[in-house]
Amino acid sequence: MERTLSIIKPDAVKKGVIGPILARFEEEGLRICAMKKIQMSKRVAEGFYAVHAERPFFGELTEFMSSGPCVVIALEGEGAILANRRIMGATNPAEAADGTLRKLYADSIGENAVHGSDAPETAATEIAYFFAGTELL
Ligand code: ATP
Ligand code: MG
Repeated sequence: MERTLSIIKPDAVKKGVIGPILARFEEEGLRICAMKKIQMSKRVAEGFYAVHAERPFFGELTEFMSSGPCVVIALEGEGAILANRRIMGATNPAEAADGTLRKLYADSIGENAVHGSDAPETAATEIAYFFAGTELL
């Protein structure tokens, strides 16, 4: 069993597609261990995406991620990290495969509906960024 962090980003929350995204995770066999709706401050978003601090899009990314509420979710399943990334599709929705969450719900590479951890170490760090161990059920 593996865990991964998903975020339903502010653009997808504004569109009212929390429900279909959660349904998709469950349909694909990913179990929700923990979930909450939050609005990140700019500082919290900067901490979360610290690995991208030197990228030219860092300011835009952290402004966007703190621009409205999002839903943070710890998902669990066999191969959950790759499964979630397959369900999300490519970072740029223009390149995302049909049926993926980004193809269905994202408008641009900057506002791309969902986040998913990319490796076991980052998944553990990202889950711990938002959830205490006792909240993972
Ligand atoms: P995420 O980490 O959000 O799941 P990802 O792993 O597919 O996405 P990363 O390379 O980690 O992609 O980039 C993190 C986020 O930064 C992207 O989801 C996107 O919102 C934003 N981003 C990446 N590249 C660009 C870009 N060229 N212009 C604007 N925003 C970008
Ligand atoms: Mg990433």
